[in-house]
Amino acid sequence: MRRPRWTVAVLMVAALVIALAALLLSRAQLTERPLVYSVVDDSVETLHAQKRMLREEIDELEKLHTSGQLATENYIQSKRFARERLADVEARLQKAQPDYKPQVVPCPSCGGPLEISMERCEYCGHLLL
Ligand SMILES: [Zn+2]
Repeated sequence: MRRPRWTVAVLMVAALVIALAALLLSRAQLTERPLVYSVVDDSVETLHAQKRMLREEIDELEKLHTSGQLATENYIQSKRFARERLADVEARLQKAQPDYKPQVVPCPSCGGPLEISMERCEYCGHLLL
């Protein structure tokens, strides 16, 4: 054996570190917040712009899902994530603009008034995906 034993150990440690780094990186990507959140800008204009972008994002997801380009599982996940961000923006808007009224949409099942960021109808329990 010409290769000393420690090189094997070093290679194994290196492989482990790479695997760990890959794992951390993939987790970081999953939990990563969009770039807009790294800048704390709670001006009403910015929040409205963010809200508009999120509405567009949700519309786009719906289009992709309807046309079969987005698997249902991914669609639900992406839409939930967009909704969470929308709820966050709504909450900040209410803080930044005291007279702000959250946008209301009728529940597709019972017609009850729902805020766009809600995930489930609070009147009939209809799941809003
Ligand atoms: Zn309902």
